[in-house]
Amino acid sequence: MLVRIQSLKNGLNEFKFNPDSTEIELNDESVGVVKASISSNVDNGDQNIIVTNDIIVKVSIECETCLEKYETDLEDSYTVFYTSEERMFDNDEMSRLLNRNTQEIDLTEGLREAILVSLPMRFKCSIKCEGLCDQCGVNLNIKKCKCEKVSFDPRWEGLKKIFQEKTGVNRLN
Ligand SMILES: [Zn+2]
Ligand SMILES: [Zn+2]
Repeated sequence: MLVRIQSLKNGLNEFKFNPDSTEIELNDESVGVVKASISSNVDNGDQNIIVTNDIIVKVSIECETCLEKYETDLEDSYTVFYTSEERMFDNDEMSRLLNRNTQEIDLTEGLREAILVSLPMRFKCSIKCEGLCDQCGVNLNIKKCKCEKVSFDPRWEGLKKIFQEKTGVNRLN
């Protein structure tokens, strides 16, 4: 997604891009881009170019509890400030310095960052996701299994024993 600076007219320029997923490598195994659309308003001034991007991205995410993939839409809007004046340059991620040789603005990096910050904190296919059975591995959202839910915490085993010895009761509730 390149914008050629030479071809910009003064003032507002509008672009639309539909980059494919290979263009946006997220380097995250549990997230992939299914579809992305980006509308860019490029405001071209003498020394500065202000780019405002509105993005809608469909991502495929691997649920952290049931390991199934699910899709969700991310929407974000962000502005990147490009300047050729060093005194105007703010050393943050939304500010870029243009030098005399810069011919193109690449919007891909900003898009990748915007996707990453828009991702949900937790990757869960639904708040009601029941995950996988920790014994037989069945996806409990799809079917129920007959495994008994027992506690494997060995500390409880020790406590149980003490309790049984002291009380003669064969259960710990
Ligand atoms: Zn899930
Ligand atoms: Zn099971």
